[in-house]
Amino acid sequence: MELVFPERSLILMCAAPGCGKSTFANRHFLSTQVVSSDRCREMVSDDVEDMSVHRETFSLVRHICHLRLSLGKLTVIDSTSLNRSSRASFQKLASQHGFASAVILLDLPLNVCLERNEQRQRQVPPEVIRRFHAYLQDTKRTIREERFDQVYVVSEEELNNVRVTIKR
Ligand code: ATP
Ligand code: MG
Repeated sequence: MELVFPERSLILMCAAPGCGKSTFANRHFLSTQVVSSDRCREMVSDDVEDMSVHRETFSLVRHICHLRLSLGKLTVIDSTSLNRSSRASFQKLASQHGFASAVILLDLPLNVCLERNEQRQRQVPPEVIRRFHAYLQDTKRTIREERFDQVYVVSEEELNNVRVTIKR
């Protein structure tokens, strides 16, 4: 599966927690192109799990994106992006900068997300994975009506067979 993006793109990873967003983003993009909401949460609060600092975290994510887009830099947001209004605000940010907006949705079955979560160091409670997996199903239904220029839905079978090409 080939994913093709113009150089001036803002790309949102979109997936349940613990199912491989960061692994995917870091495998296919430069580490400097990836803006991780977990990393931003840690930077503002010293605690990657502190959900009470959501506003500050996303203020920082947004600010970094704004600066990178102002400099013409391709940017990938490593976050669940399962809230429609949050996606819309990043879509708007992209278009304000004359950037294309794109979504990479990792469409993995619930059992795979739960298994991967169990196997790793920092675990999210399984009920959180279940809840976000349900949001993912809602997102899959609406994402093509949202205003993104490109939407790639990557299945479990395709996940390890993805090639990313940046069109210059
Ligand atoms: P979070 O939402 O908590 O940030 P995440 O979606 O970024 O999680 P990762 O940290 O990338 O998920 O991966 C979660 C676990 O799944 C890790 O243990 C990782 O090694 C494993 N994993 C990620 N991608 C794959 C893959 N393609 N095949 C097999 N295992 C994978
Ligand atoms: Mg991650």
